Amino acid sequence: MRYLPINMDLRGKRVVVFGGGGAAEAKLRTILRTEAEVRVVSDEPSAEIQRWADDGRLHLATDCCLDCATLIYAATEEPEENLRLAELARAKNIPCNAADMPAGCDFITPALVDRAPVVVAIGSEGTSPGLARAIKSDIETRLPSDLGETARTIKGLRDQLKIEEPDISKRQAIWADVLGAGRNDFSSLSPETVSERYSRARSGGDAVGHVHIVGAGPGDPDLLTVGALRVMHSADVVIYDRLVSDDVLALCRREAEYIYVGKVPGGASTRQEEINRLLVKHAQAGSIVVRLKSGDPLVFGRAEEEFAALDAAGLDFTIHPGITAATAAAASLRHSLTVRGENTAAVLATGHDENGFAELDWASLAKPGARATIYMGLRASRFIQGRLMVSGADPSMPVCVVENASRKNEVILSTTLAELPDALAAGGITGPAVLMLGYTRRGAVKAMKEAS
Ligand code: SAH
Repeated sequence: MRYLPINMDLRGKRVVVFGGGGAAEAKLRTILRTEAEVRVVSDEPSAEIQRWADDGRLHLATDCCLDCATLIYAATEEPEENLRLAELARAKNIPCNAADMPAGCDFITPALVDRAPVVVAIGSEGTSPGLARAIKSDIETRLPSDLGETARTIKGLRDQLKIEEPDISKRQAIWADVLGAGRNDFSSLSPETVSERYSRARSGGDAVGHVHIVGAGPGDPDLLTVGALRVMHSADVVIYDRLVSDDVLALCRREAEYIYVGKVPGGASTRQEEINRLLVKHAQAGSIVVRLKSGDPLVFGRAEEEFAALDAAGLDFTIHPGITAATAAAASLRHSLTVRGENTAAVLATGHDENGFAELDWASLAKPGARATIYMGLRASRFIQGRLMVSGADPSMPVCVVENASRKNEVILSTTLAELPDALAAGGITGPAVLMLGYTRRGAVKAMKEAS
């Protein structure tokens, strides 16, 4: 290792940047994150640098004697000038970084994943900045965006624990437990999970748990939110539905207890009361419960009944929205759910409710240009078709059926209202699928080129 990564305290120290163009700007994007007093020497600062100066984030100067500088960046657009500045800095024993000139660098700035006060620095000693950037982007996705806040929360709790618990080995045991030492699940840490686990560890496991109502999306794990993924990693108990994909389920904490509560349409199912009971029971036992519901939990997910049960038991819960089947399906059709000037409403409706086939506002759905996404509509397709036709819908109204939206086995069927039930049968569509009334499928660019 030729270069030693060190964390230098720049609070109140002067950093001088020579240059006012793209190279200086790139350096400044990092330097301005510190608490240094930044001075930029340039006759022609770029608009961005001028804006930073106007905002009081740096001082602009046309000259600088260097003497009070802690660090110097020679980042003019002229390599010769940068080398000259580096020589000047060396003569004064001030560390200098000359942009893109290894010979003029006493130090190099690593690629940073900044969750201050937690900062990860990645350096390749100049061999491959591209590799450092690739590693950085990987780490970026793995570290929660609020890791800095988590670190501050931990600091507060550590200060408190030092007063309350004089035995250092007990303190260490509590932190090993809270921070999941050896579990390798730091990506699930958040200010909330840390506080929850801390109070649980302090009370010897008696603390009340927490329920996360999590949108698992339509199936593709890429469609999970970062927050959903994080709480999935922290789960003690995972209570999941039939339509939660295996790929998504595989991302939950391995050591968690898994409870399947699937409801098969028209078949055997776990009663909602039983699901509510399980949620309450596990949260009361102090567990972090992840209630994984397909798509968005707030769309045809009976979430309100679960909230009511948790409220009645005095338990707190957090909701993590997900991508609902309608938006995933629209993305597969490569069309927008709403089109300016064409539809003023994008209806999300169910084909089935507690009374059987659902009665919808057929008159408005039958109007030319109407668009609706029908969930749980497969078995009701003939009923929907009949109601719409009687209400005056055009039999040639386009209908797309998207089965297993976002999954590897996704199927898209383009048909018309007149053909819908037969097309479903011929296509062997068994679901999960949404019926997208009034929607067409955008042809692939390649197919369109071939046709023209
Ligand atoms: N909360 C879910 C909907 C649950 S109701 C959401 O927001 O998506 C169950 C219905 O959702 C299914 O009958 C089907 O109509 C639809 N659905 C769920 N996942 C789907 C998928 N991957 N592709 C197409 N439709 C899906």
